[in-house]
Amino acid sequence: MIITDQVFGHYAFCSYKALLKMNGKTGQISDYEKFQAQKEADFKRRAIRNLVQKYGATDFSGWENKADLVSHVESIIIGFRADFKDMMVEIDALQVSQKNFYSPSPIMVTYKNKIGKQEKLLVTFVTYVLANFLKQPITTAKFYHGEPPRFTKVSLEKYRTKVRSLLSEIRLLSKKEKAPKLQLNDNCSICEFRKECLDEATEKDDLSLLRGMRQKQIQTQNKKGIFTVTQYSYTFRPRRVKTPESITTGRYHALQALAIREQKVFIHQSPEIPSAKTKIYMDIETDPDRDFIYLIGLVAEDENGE
Ligand code: SF4
Repeated sequence: MIITDQVFGHYAFCSYKALLKMNGKTGQISDYEKFQAQKEADFKRRAIRNLVQKYGATDFSGWENKADLVSHVESIIIGFRADFKDMMVEIDALQVSQKNFYSPSPIMVTYKNKIGKQEKLLVTFVTYVLANFLKQPITTAKFYHGEPPRFTKVSLEKYRTKVRSLLSEIRLLSKKEKAPKLQLNDNCSICEFRKECLDEATEKDDLSLLRGMRQKQIQTQNKKGIFTVTQYSYTFRPRRVKTPESITTGRYHALQALAIREQKVFIHQSPEIPSAKTKIYMDIETDPDRDFIYLIGLVAEDENGE
């Protein structure tokens, strides 16, 4: 199997999604995903036009070897393809100049303002393949992203080890030597397979149904032979509270599991709701990708009404 940037991207998003995709499955693309894909495509078109205007572009569709690159200086190569062993990537833009030829800089384009870990892993993978293809070290990679569009450099060193370990896992998966287990995660709400996975997890009574439980916490329980919410619910032991100060406000996942098993509500601690003559209720809505608050609603209430 060829490990493309798309395969790697799926695996970095969720290993189970990569498995489903490798098996040719397709899910139900939500309106949100369609909106995101359209936004990304529109942004890419605009961003590439900006880059070409600024640096000039070179059509490398017919080039044979890297010597061809030297003669095309101070330009951007769009949609550059590189391969190495069982890997192949397409790079949004590759910046080449006489100054940096010995370390050309790949540029990934995205509409996102915040560059997350998945994007950083992907650009590190892309750069790894490119560096091996060109047989020269590449020290920097950049994102051209956000509104207004800007460059952000990525430290590749930090993600190299993780990329290598993900590559080994993908190879094992492609040889069917090791398949990832279904585990619901933070990405499920924006994934095309959310319904199928939720149905499967519900049927299995899978531990990952307990939202808020981290992957490591689930693995720790799995090592003890606990795989379902019901099994986990039996591990809850109420603690004796000696003083009010010793009450912890942490989350008890085992108690949550017990509540599900017994279909009961347990009060962990009586809530203290502050009271005052004047009450103010707030509603704040934000766009986390832009760190932007676009709405603040306030309702004040006193003895005369709202
Ligand atoms: S729904 Fe969740 S677990 Fe299933 S493939 Fe998507 S991200 Fe992975």
